[in-house]
Amino acid sequence: MPRPIEALIHTDALAHNLARARAAAPDARLWVVVKANAYGHGLERVYEPLRAADGFALLDLDEASRLRELGWRGPVLLLEGAFEPRDLELCSRLNLWHVVHCEAQIDWLGRHKTHQGHRVFLKMNSGMNRLGFTPTALRSAWARLNALPQVDEISLVSHFSDADGPRGIAHQVAVFDTATRDLPGERSLANSAAILRHPGLKADWVRAGILTYGSAPDFPEHDLAHWGLQPAMTLRARIIGTQQLQPGDTVGYASRFTADRPMRIGVVSCGYADGYPRLCGTGTPVLVDGVRSGTVGRVSMDMLAVDLSPVPQAGLGSEVTLWGRGPRQSVLAIDEVARAAGTIGYELMCALAQRVPVTVV
Ligand SMILES: *Cc1c(COP(=O)(O)O)cnc(C)c1O
Repeated sequence: MPRPIEALIHTDALAHNLARARAAAPDARLWVVVKANAYGHGLERVYEPLRAADGFALLDLDEASRLRELGWRGPVLLLEGAFEPRDLELCSRLNLWHVVHCEAQIDWLGRHKTHQGHRVFLKMNSGMNRLGFTPTALRSAWARLNALPQVDEISLVSHFSDADGPRGIAHQVAVFDTATRDLPGERSLANSAAILRHPGLKADWVRAGILTYGSAPDFPEHDLAHWGLQPAMTLRARIIGTQQLQPGDTVGYASRFTADRPMRIGVVSCGYADGYPRLCGTGTPVLVDGVRSGTVGRVSMDMLAVDLSPVPQAGLGSEVTLWGRGPRQSVLAIDEVARAAGTIGYELMCALAQRVPVTVV
C-alpha cells in the first residue's frame, strides 16, 4: 500500500470560484492566473475547469507552451514579458501576448524579426515599485512601442500593492488614470483582492489568481465563506500510530509539547517533506474524521502528531485533513494553516511536494 497521503484537486471548486470572479467583475474580461504551475495545482489538472476564462496569465514560457499543447487557442499573457530577446520568437510562434515593463524589452522588440504583429501590455509602475515604467517614463515608452512595426496593439497594465489591506488602491488608481488619461488601449488592473474588495474598479481585463484556488486574499479580515469561495486543493493523510500520554510526557523533536493531562494523540503520515509547513506549532488546526482538532509538537519530515481528545473514536486509519475538504461537508481553509505558519495560503499551495500523489476529482 502506498504511504497514505494524497492531494485532491477539486474541479467543481475551480469552476465555482471562477464563476465568483466573473460575478464580481461582470463587465471585465477575465484572465485566470496560472503561474507557478497553477499555484501548485498543476496546469494540466486545472485546464478543463478553467477553460471558461477569457485568457490565461502566467510568466513561464514553458508553461505557455504547455497551454498551447493542451489546445488553448485563446489569449495567453506573459506577466513579466520576455526575459531575453529570443523569447520573442516563441511569442510570435505561439501568439503570446506579453508585458513590456522596461526599455530593454522595447529594444529587443525593435530588433525582433517577425511577420506577426505582437499584442503588448505596457506596464506602468503606479506605486508598487516592482516592474514597470514610472508615470513620467510611460509616455515615451508608449510612443516607442507605437512606432514599431512589430507591435500590433498596445494595452496598459498595472498592479496593486495593497488591494488586500487598509491602504487600498485609490492612490494607485489615481496615478494610473492621470498618466494614461489620453492613451488609447485596453486596461488590465486588479488581482483577486481588488476584484473582490473593490468591485467598482473599471478595467477591461482583471486578473484572478488566488481566489480561483479557494483562498481568501484578505484573510483573516475575511475568510473563504465570506467571499463564497471553495477550496480547490485538499491535502489529507491518515493516522498511522497512536500514543497514550500521561501528564509530563512530551511529544516529538525538542520536546516542544508537554502533556498536562492524560491524552491520546494520533501520528499522521504527513510532514514537512510533503509541503506541510514545519513552522506550524502546537494547536494548528486539523480535521480528524472531519472533527476539528489541533497539532501537537513539532512537525517532522514525514509525520506530525494531532490531539485526539475531541475525537475519541478516532484511531489507526482515521482520515486527517491537513487543509481543504474533509468528510461530511467539513472544510479547513488553507489560510488558517498558513496563518499558523506565519505565511499565506499562496505559499502552502505552491509548495505541495512532488512526492504527494495528486488525484483530480
Ligand atoms: C500573481 C499576479 C496576479 C494574481 O494575483 P492574486 O493575488 O493571486 O490574484 C495578478 N497580476 C500579476 C501581475 C501577478 O503577478
